[in-house]
Amino acid sequence: MSWSSATHLARTGINCDPGGAVTAPVHLTSAWRREEAGTAGAFDYARTANPGRALLEEAIAKLEGAAGACVTASGMAAIDLLLNDLPAGSRIVCGHDVYGGTRRLLDARAEGRRFTINYVDLTNVAAAQEALSRPAALVFIETPSNPRLRITDIAAVCALTREAGAVSVVDNTVLTGAQQRPLDLGADIVVGSATKLLNGHSDMVGGFVAARDATRMERFAWWVNAAGVGGGAFDAFLATRGLRTLALRAKAQSASALDLAIRLDAHPSVTRVDYPGLTAHKGHALAAEQQSGFGPLISMELVGGLCPNAFVQDLDLFTLAQSLGGTESLVSIPSLMTHAAMSPADRAQAGIADGLVRLSVGLEDVEDLWRDLSDALERSSTRSA
Ligand SMILES: *Cc1c(COP(=O)(O)O)cnc(C)c1O
Repeated sequence: MSWSSATHLARTGINCDPGGAVTAPVHLTSAWRREEAGTAGAFDYARTANPGRALLEEAIAKLEGAAGACVTASGMAAIDLLLNDLPAGSRIVCGHDVYGGTRRLLDARAEGRRFTINYVDLTNVAAAQEALSRPAALVFIETPSNPRLRITDIAAVCALTREAGAVSVVDNTVLTGAQQRPLDLGADIVVGSATKLLNGHSDMVGGFVAARDATRMERFAWWVNAAGVGGGAFDAFLATRGLRTLALRAKAQSASALDLAIRLDAHPSVTRVDYPGLTAHKGHALAAEQQSGFGPLISMELVGGLCPNAFVQDLDLFTLAQSLGGTESLVSIPSLMTHAAMSPADRAQAGIADGLVRLSVGLEDVEDLWRDLSDALERSSTRSA
């Protein structure tokens, strides 16, 4: 019998223990006994592979429709893993408003390995085509982008990438395979942070790379062992537990985010709301087509004169913290937090204003969340009056 993705998720790690445990045990060991010096068993040394990580890799590969997956110690370790597959001097074309940490890593690696990087607005297919008129090795897409939630046409940009003989990568952190399947749309590789919506409980750090091609996955697995960047057993256990509720969490958090985005959009103290679920959002039609949900993130700007710092301090249910996608709602000011490593000029080019506020909507009751936001907006406007 073939199961739906929701069933696979709910049963991640269930009934797979040879000893009969219903949920998968955690193997806290660094090495496995060999029967004979020259022959390793299924597991040998935990840097190379460990059972909990292997289980999570299988579940993520299934979720993304990939030939396999490698689970890494963080999302950044996953992105760095990709770069091991590129010869020195390769040219990378990257979306101009990707996660701040991605830019920091790509810039530093470009210097060390003489990669050339062009940051391009990949939401503009003509700009992508222009960028690919010169030889490129890798095209890095993040959609929806973080924090402005711009939507890139995955099928169109990946088709151009293939024609140009390059490899396409999509960072799927914000939606996860529960709401977007880039490999089905033509991407070669999906990369992401497990720290965010995938695990969803803000209690571990991890990442993954999943590719459609098994040979490519073998090379990534070789690098995981060689460079020692694989995820640990306990973090894999936590992410496996988180995955079982991913389909439900993604659906509920997206529904609340849409509800709040509509109300924020109508609020007199808010000048702009970015949420792909709003029909007025520039990427709405594309998001509706290539995604199966609009995700937990909203970004917004307050009317001139209202101080974003004071606004975030006034919130009770939205905790001021860097992450996203957890069961608890969070708020951040990207220019001072996630994107602080970018230069002010690069931030301006990516549309990240100093006053931009990003919300990650959790599982709290949506009416409580709205009261918290509207009370804080009310206090902000009273303060400025
Ligand atoms: C957080 C994040 C990363 C990095 O993941 P870590 O697990 O924090 O290393 C990469 N891409 C996006 C879009 C992110 O939000």
